[in-house]
Amino acid sequence: VPFIQCFHVAKSYVAGEEVLRDANLQVFKGEFLFLMGPSGAGKSTFLKLLLGLEAPTRGHILVDGRNIHRLSRKEIPAYRRKVGMVFQDFRLLNQDSVFHNVALPLVAAGRSRRWIRSKVKSLLQFVGLDGKTHVPCCRLSGGEQQRVALARAVANDPWVLLADEPTGNLDACASAVIMELLKAVHARGTTVVVATHDASLLEHLPEARRVHIQGGIFYEEAEAAAPRFPS
Ligand code: ADP
Ligand code: ADP
Repeated sequence: VPFIQCFHVAKSYVAGEEVLRDANLQVFKGEFLFLMGPSGAGKSTFLKLLLGLEAPTRGHILVDGRNIHRLSRKEIPAYRRKVGMVFQDFRLLNQDSVFHNVALPLVAAGRSRRWIRSKVKSLLQFVGLDGKTHVPCCRLSGGEQQRVALARAVANDPWVLLADEPTGNLDACASAVIMELLKAVHARGTTVVVATHDASLLEHLPEARRVHIQGGIFYEEAEAAAPRFPS
């Protein structure tokens, strides 16, 4: 059974203007998927629907078999913890330390102080920022800030990591580092969806699945370099 299932999803913000028209998609657990499309195509809208930040105008989205727009108010926080998100503009608490930013979702999840200290330490080792634990985020480079955002996004070991133009504000070198980290997150078994207009990112993961969004509809790129599932 696919892990994410979208059935005939439509979304409009303004009556009569559909950003998504008839979006159908199935994502299996452990996939790495690029969602490609020019600016304004509806990539962010789709990620917001997956996060439950917006509701579809029509259609259904199931994640792990549950319709995420029918979750009870009590179930929503637990669901959001299972979906990590990275944004182009990092969205960190800039005056706060690296530690504080990465610890936040762990605090929200009610983890113990001891657990938080050890998890943040391993997350910062993972993204190569254990030497900057107590530095305020505003003093970091863009690439470092995005590594903090990535550590924060995976802090609760989400099922899925969504990344919205994660390298959009970074130079080529910092972008390559972020793509390597996304690969490492994927290698741990996390499903990863990267939304981007930047086709050069595909070079980092030529074997990844590609889905294009155009006119509010998803199109599978058929000629993937390698088979995605064992037959
Ligand atoms: P992408 O991420 O591919 O650049 P978006 O999902 O951000 O595309 O935007 C798709 C379209 O939806 C754009 O025309 C954008 O202006 C519109 N849009 C996005 N968010 C809103 C909103 N909150 N209210 C009204 N229109 C919106
Ligand atoms: P661990 O036994 O701590 O999971 P791994 O070798 O599997 O170690 O992971 C490599 C590094 O990534 C470790 O420092 C680990 O703590 C850190 N890490 C922790 N959580 C995540 C996560 N959700 N995604 C990616 N890396 C993580």
